[in-house]
Amino acid sequence: MVKKNMLSRLTKYPTPLYFYDLQLLDQTLKDAVDAAQPYSYHIHFAVKANNNDRILESIQRHGMGADCVSGNEIREALKRGFPANKIVFAGVGKTDNEIKLGLETDIFAFNCESLQEINVINDLAGSMGKKARIFLRLNPDVEAHTHKNITTGKAENKFGINATDTDIFLTLKKDFKNVEFVGLHFHIGSQICDFEVFKNLSLKVNEIQDLFESKGEKIKYLNLGGGLGINYADPQQNPIPDFAGYFETFHKYLKLRPGQEVHFELGRALVAQCGTLLSRVLYIKPGVRNQFAIIDASMTDLLRPALYEAQHRIENLSSEAAEKKTYDVAGPVCESSDVFARNILLEETRRGDFLAIYSTGAYGQVMSSLYNMRDPATTIYSDEVE
Ligand SMILES: *Cc1c(COP(=O)(O)O)cnc(C)c1O
Repeated sequence: MVKKNMLSRLTKYPTPLYFYDLQLLDQTLKDAVDAAQPYSYHIHFAVKANNNDRILESIQRHGMGADCVSGNEIREALKRGFPANKIVFAGVGKTDNEIKLGLETDIFAFNCESLQEINVINDLAGSMGKKARIFLRLNPDVEAHTHKNITTGKAENKFGINATDTDIFLTLKKDFKNVEFVGLHFHIGSQICDFEVFKNLSLKVNEIQDLFESKGEKIKYLNLGGGLGINYADPQQNPIPDFAGYFETFHKYLKLRPGQEVHFELGRALVAQCGTLLSRVLYIKPGVRNQFAIIDASMTDLLRPALYEAQHRIENLSSEAAEKKTYDVAGPVCESSDVFARNILLEETRRGDFLAIYSTGAYGQVMSSLYNMRDPATTIYSDEVE
């Protein structure tokens, strides 16, 4: 993670700059794999959290699979060395071309989100002389206790197949000759730090499994999705999430059938803390309440504060001032929501100072846009810094 003593080595780079600590990434991946190993759990990386080539290559080297939500993510995962038989494909709006790509490349499975989608997959697979492995993505109606924009497992969310359509699928299953129903999939939301939520998910999955079994269905695979949160408030003291506690919770509460394989899809927890967005202060300007520090990074580089009211820890790496002052930190884009933080304490900040915005490795650079015709941020990896 970026520290004050690295400043002299970073100031030669243009900002905004995404810095990735590959050593921290490596340690995080190792911890995750080690924590899953005792239970033989399989981990897929949710590519949408970060699709940088070097990040994907590190993750692939640790033996994880890939969880993709578009055809291009499938292409990228294959290009970075993920084997097709470790790729899963989710999303409520898979296009025909994306489905065909998944079939052509023989990915492990499609996580299906509607009955109509299963119909389309069945038809396309038939026309290609293939058989598709499918999971039903079910909406377990579990409260994730996270921001409403990143809650996905409540009844009102657009994700997952509802109970009526699940029943219809089971009665029609024998007619779907070109799909093989192999598992159940769940993903209830993101940035979940309360393990009670994963306990509740496990208990709900047990009930759902019983129900399927009572209808004579054997479930070969369970995919519990992702969602494990990270510590945004104090990343330096908590650089690696509690993977052991996370997997232990599922081990404790999930009732598995003999031979059943369990899969997870982690995004944020694997890559968030290794990324730091670096930015220079352009102007200090007085506001009604606080001073504004206007910086050269914006919502086009990091959308999370504007989109989810996310709060990232920010530090001034340049200032040696003893005194701290209150600032609102804002970007240059013409939107009132282009604000990274309100009312935060920073060491006295001046034009030209270097600010670090922490925990930006997940859902940061991938959400960049060209709004206001801004240049994209540059990227640097820790082993490239001299
Ligand atoms: C986004 C997503 C994930 C990863 O979520 P994180 O909170 O980043 O772990 C996993 N599965 C599906 C289906 C997703 O859409």
